[in-house]
Order: sequence, then C-alpha cells, then structure tokens
Amino acid sequence: MSPVRVQKIVCIGAGYVGGPTCAVIAQKCPDITVTIVDLNEARIKAWNDEEYRLPIYEPGLVDVVRSCRGKNLFFSTDVDKGIQEADLIFVSVNTPTKKSGVGAGFAADLNYIELATRRIAAVATSNKIVVEKSTVPCRTAESMRTILEANASPNCRFDILSNPEFLAEGTAINDLYKPDRVLIGSLQTPEGLDACQSLSDVYAHWVPRERILTVGLWSSELSKLAANAMLAQRISSINALSAICEATGANIDEVANAIGYDSRIGPKFLKASVGFGGSCFQKDILNLVYLSESLHLPEVAAYWRQVVEMNEHQKSRFAKRVVDTLFNTITNKRITVLGFAFKADTGDTRESAAITLIRDFLKEKANISLYDPQVEEAQIWQDLAEACPSLPLENIKKQVKICSSSLEACEGAEAIVIATEWKEFKVIDWEKVYKSMNKPAFVFDGRLLVDEVKLTKIGFKVTTIGRGTL
Ligand code: NAD
Repeated sequence: MSPVRVQKIVCIGAGYVGGPTCAVIAQKCPDITVTIVDLNEARIKAWNDEEYRLPIYEPGLVDVVRSCRGKNLFFSTDVDKGIQEADLIFVSVNTPTKKSGVGAGFAADLNYIELATRRIAAVATSNKIVVEKSTVPCRTAESMRTILEANASPNCRFDILSNPEFLAEGTAINDLYKPDRVLIGSLQTPEGLDACQSLSDVYAHWVPRERILTVGLWSSELSKLAANAMLAQRISSINALSAICEATGANIDEVANAIGYDSRIGPKFLKASVGFGGSCFQKDILNLVYLSESLHLPEVAAYWRQVVEMNEHQKSRFAKRVVDTLFNTITNKRITVLGFAFKADTGDTRESAAITLIRDFLKEKANISLYDPQVEEAQIWQDLAEACPSLPLENIKKQVKICSSSLEACEGAEAIVIATEWKEFKVIDWEKVYKSMNKPAFVFDGRLLVDEVKLTKIGFKVTTIGRGTL
C-alpha cells in the first residue's frame, strides 16, 4: 500500500465551511477536480449563479469561485454521482445542537452526519477516504466506520480522517489561505497513516508542511471542540471582567491591554462585547458539556457550562442596562438596532446577540428600527419569529421596521444600540444622526466600536460595555 494521489474530491455540504474550504482547495490545486454537493437546491443554484450572487457573504469568496468554477470546481445537487466519482470525500454537513430527545439542548444532532455516511455506503463502488470536516463529538469517526462497514459493498475500503475546520466567518478566505495550522487525525494504522498522507499532500499545495499537524483521530476531534471552548472562555472571561469595570470605574479596554501585554496571555480575543454569537461557540461548548456528563465528569461539565451561562448573562445584562438607562421603560419608544449579523463581514445570524436583544426589547413593547448591511429581510423575520414564539409574526412586523441605511434607522429614535461591529457604523455622520433623534439621545455600544468622547461632545449619552458613564 502507498498513499493515494487524490484526483477527485467531493464535499458533501455547500455551507459556510464546505463552500469556501473546497473552493480554496480547487483554486490552490488545479490538478484536482472538486465538486461541492448539497441537497439544498436553492443553495446550489446560488453557488452557480451567473452574476456570482453566492448563498453566503464572505469577503474574497466571489474572486475564488470566479477563478475556478467550471474549470475544476463544480457545484451540484447530484450527491450520489459526486460520491461515486471521488477518491476523497469531505463530510461538511451541519451538526446543530439537538432540539429534542436524549441530550436535547446540549448534544450535537448527528442525524445529518449519519445520513451522509449512509449515502456514501450505499453508492460507493470504490475505495474512499472519508474526511470529517464537520465539528463532531469525540469518537464520531468510530460510528461512521461502523455504518460504512456494515452497509458498503465488500470490495470498498473506507479510511476515515478527522480534519476539523478552524476558519472564522468574515475572514474565512484569509484563514484558508494562511491557516495557523491544518489538523489531520487518523488511526495510527498503515492504512490510516497513508490516508493521512494523501490529505496532507492536498493541503501541501499551499500550506507549509510544518503547519500540517497529524495526530490521532480522537485527539483531532476533541481539539476542535477544545479550541472553540477556549476561545469562547476568553470572551466570557473578559466579559465577566467588564461587569466589574462598569461597577468600579475601571476601563475594560485598559484592563484588556494591560493583561494582553503578558506574553503568556497575549492580546488577541480580549475584546469585551455584548456577547459571542455564531453557529459554533455555544454549540461546541454544549457538546463538550454533554460529552463530559456522559463520561461521568459532572464538575468538568459544570466548568464549561459556565462559559455559556456567562454569555447569556452578558446579553441580558446589556438589555437591562438599556431599559434602566431609558428611565426604566422602553414601552412605545423607538430603539434603533444597528447590526443583525452575529459579527461583521458575514450575513450569518445564527445565535446573534442582536436577536436576543431585540427579543428582550419587544417584550418591553419597544418599537425597533433595524439596519444591517448584509442580512436579508426574510432571514430577519425568520429569526425573530423563532426567538419570539408567543408573538405572532404580524405583531413582530408592526413593532420592527427594517431600514435600508443607518441614517434611516436612527431617525426619530430615543436610543441606538450597536449590536454588530460593522465598520460602516464607525463612520456614521453622528452630527446628522443626533439632530434627527429624540432628546436626550442615547447610544449603547455593544461592540466598543464608536468614539465615546466624540459622541459625548456632540450631545449623545453614551453607554459602553466595561466602562462607567463618562
Ligand atoms: P451549514 O448549515 O452552512 O451547511 C451545511 C450544509 O450541509 C447545508 O447546506 C445542508 O443542506 C447540507 N447537508 C446536510 N445534510 C446533507 C446531506 N446528507 N447531503 C448533502 N448535503 C447535506 O453549516 P456550516 O456552517 O457550513 O457548518 C458545517 C460544519 O462545520 C458544522 O459541523 C460546523 O460546526 C462546522 N464549522 C462551522 C464553522 C463556521 O464558521 N460556520 C467553522 C468551523 C466548523
């Protein structure tokens, strides 16, 4: 046996990970044909859109797709054909938190992984390297192997690898071009190590070999959960300190700067905010909590659970600060929410702090004017309907106005809440905004984005995370 030279790749799942990751592989590996498949026809149609109106917004992505689509990059709904033709299969399907049943609210829902795995077993007619790209609980590869071996035709061999993705939305293309590391986990058998070598060779088209880490399967699976848990823990730690700053007069930026100078701590990921969002942090920590509980490690589970609880506390603490500052009532007041995406440079709204804030404001019977430069209107209504199940959508639509610019959203408002750190919110014409608002005019900066001193001089009453009022 020797490592297979990969010539055809299929990626099952054309989402935020599968799409950009495999588009970059196609661009960097012109000798490999890459097909990205998905059951979602609308998504695939958008990936094939002639005007490049792709289904996800990610800076630089259009250029990558434009450079190789139709040459060695293809998007298709024909999952079976993609599987049959490929020698390496990325499984990049969604693994959301389970909504009901055993482990509901904590465990990963592995239904999509299982269905994709069963499809591979059903249609494969030759040997395949099957790569977990999705974030999965530790030892998922074992379940995949059991399913594959029980269902596949006897002359097919499957080698399973774990290759978790560490890209961050908003910087995905740069993260993929210059990854801190590529992690590949395999069984430490001759076949497993060969498969690992085959995938390493794909990445080595552009990633320096010393950045390609090869480890055992279970270490690789756990490392992804651990990395996200540690990142989220840093945010919850700085946010916990921000509450102390607000109560004492210390300034969270100064504290973060001071502690970040310690080379053991480092300056990154120490920005206080209204809380983390996105599809991964909360889900992956809860997954770790569930894993710890199932391993009979309740203290370990409680430790990680606290990171998520702190995040929820930060969001509700911020919403309460808005209400308290507006003389303890926001009923019938117009509140402007700037930003709906969970972070800047993405249209993704999953677990966005803006959703929680708007839900809390709606409960207080406020009127909302909302503006986000990327998120589509239909997505906003869907998210708000899910977040407020007791409010009929017609009522939500009466209370929430979606605007097409910050200026429009701020007109006639009592307060502005900055929920997403879009750069354009930094350069708003604040003088003009001030004139158009009811007085006193309040700004609540949930992302430490605006110049507090400048806005205060204009006349705004500014509240920021981790600082007392000036
Ligand atoms: P996503 O929901 O955007 O995309 C998943 C896609 O898989 C969907 O389009 C869905 O239709 C498709 N799919 C599901 N089952 C399928 C099947 N059987 N056959 C074909 N297509 C199928 O999800 P995502 O954000 O791309 O995340 C994918 C995985 O990567 C998750 O496990 C996630 O935790 C992990 N991850 C996400 C990020 C991120 O920033 N979004 C970063 C790192 C890792």
